[in-house]
Amino acid sequence: METISRQNKPQQQLIGAHMSAAGGVHKAVERAEAAGATALQVFTRNQRQWNAPPLEEHDAELFTAAVRRWGGYPVSSHASYLINPAADTPEGAERSVALMADELQRAGRLGIEMVVVHPGAHKGQGETAGAALAAARLDEALERCGSPAVMVLLENTAGQGTMLGASFAGLAAVIEASRMPERYGICLDTAHAFGAGYDLRDAALYDAAIRELDVCAGLDRLRLVHANDSLTGLGSRRDRHTHIGQGELGEAAFRLLMRDERLHHVPKVLETPKGKGPEEDMMNMAVLRRLARP
Ligand SMILES: [Zn+2]
Ligand SMILES: [Zn+2]
Repeated sequence: METISRQNKPQQQLIGAHMSAAGGVHKAVERAEAAGATALQVFTRNQRQWNAPPLEEHDAELFTAAVRRWGGYPVSSHASYLINPAADTPEGAERSVALMADELQRAGRLGIEMVVVHPGAHKGQGETAGAALAAARLDEALERCGSPAVMVLLENTAGQGTMLGASFAGLAAVIEASRMPERYGICLDTAHAFGAGYDLRDAALYDAAIRELDVCAGLDRLRLVHANDSLTGLGSRRDRHTHIGQGELGEAAFRLLMRDERLHHVPKVLETPKGKGPEEDMMNMAVLRRLARP
């Protein structure tokens, strides 16, 4: 009887945070566990440097063992901010492909199946040309990495400067231009969407945004949500994250998100401000869980 009632219970949503890998990437898993998280995002190398020491086998073993102990919850890595898949020079392209291949290879060795990357800046080449370049470079990185289980998750952007991916159609254009679309998914960042002009606070407009994502790319491609409130206003084209419910999006937007059945199974990860301890993440996760309750 007990088994039956447990099966009938709706599954808890997977909620977590981006955690520091200070002291070794396995430490991020320990931080997630200590905070009560059931999802995790990490950097697997310094995200602001071109060069990084190789991943040691020992570190990979510590990480995969820590994930198993924690319960095997979903883990994503966020690729370096230096990568510009739409780079307009051959040298820029080669550097970005090499770095992305390294990100994917590290993820593969760590058992991480999702690598989030920003689609890049077209720098005046135009969105269509930029999307085609981004797809070609990301495809090449996928071919080089030798990690067949790893997916690229394209993250929507606030659309600063000539950044691609401010619209869901823009993200979908990269996947359509790829020779291996089955290796691509989407990561939806709520603060970036708001900065790009998607008003997620209003029930009808929120619903329209999710439908647009479905029409452009298919909701089955949505593998991850970055749950961030925004310090800047609707359509600001800026990217400043703040605590859930304390920014311009407010609790209304996250209530719609957390109660959206279509997104129930998609892990939600915070990228909100925090100190050294788990306090802020625990506070924000508690707010998301509260807003999920009817
Ligand atoms: Zn990002
Ligand atoms: Zn994000």
